[in-house]
Amino acid sequence: MTSVIGNLQAVRSRIAAACDSAGRPVQAVTLLAVSKAFPAEAVREAFAGGQRAFGENYVQEATSKIEALGDLRAQIEWHLIGPLQSNKTRIVAEVFDWVHSVDRLKIAQRLSEQRPPQLPPLQLCLQVNISGEPSKSGLDPAELPAVAAAVAALPRVRLRGLMAIPEPAADPAAQRAPHRALRELLERLNAGGLALDTLSMGMSADLEAAIAEDATMVRVGTAIFGSR
Ligand SMILES: *Cc1c(COP(=O)(O)O)cnc(C)c1O
Repeated sequence: MTSVIGNLQAVRSRIAAACDSAGRPVQAVTLLAVSKAFPAEAVREAFAGGQRAFGENYVQEATSKIEALGDLRAQIEWHLIGPLQSNKTRIVAEVFDWVHSVDRLKIAQRLSEQRPPQLPPLQLCLQVNISGEPSKSGLDPAELPAVAAAVAALPRVRLRGLMAIPEPAADPAAQRAPHRALRELLERLNAGGLALDTLSMGMSADLEAAIAEDATMVRVGTAIFGSR
């Protein structure tokens, strides 16, 4: 019998140990609890354990969960981390705080146009296909500078950084390589004049490798809620 609160504590300990090894303050890393495929009650349990930032993959599933948790809306930060189609941007601009999975300019333009004026700017990350897998979503690193500059200029969104889902690898050194590559892409964009502060990388299996390469937000599902 797994307990969400116990699992959360274990994940926080892993993050703290990884920060310690990397010589980074533990506050430098935000834990995003990925609640996809789990019901609103599981989110409530994590909330009771002090968790405030949640990641969801599927727009439909997320919007009904956000509605069911309406009483907690002001205290929860909702992050979309899954693929986003043009025809779903309006609802996403209306209900989410962050979108990590922006993989083309068109999507960011629509989110900016559709973000309600009474809400703060929608916080965005650009998803990068860091392992170069042909079937994976995400921008090619070569397209990144032009897209990042264009997204950073949009009025109702704020470009915060980069996100990636590297190809799974078993050993720590192999896990670090794609995370290092994403960090270097962010450093290059910042050297070119942007001021990005977010590296969204690291999941249940590789959060230590990601934190060693300066991840600022780790997205953890299985290790908190159990297997899907
Ligand atoms: C599901 C998912 C996660 C969480 O993965 P776990 O291995 O369950 O921790 C993180 N990021 C994205 C984009 C996901 O789709």
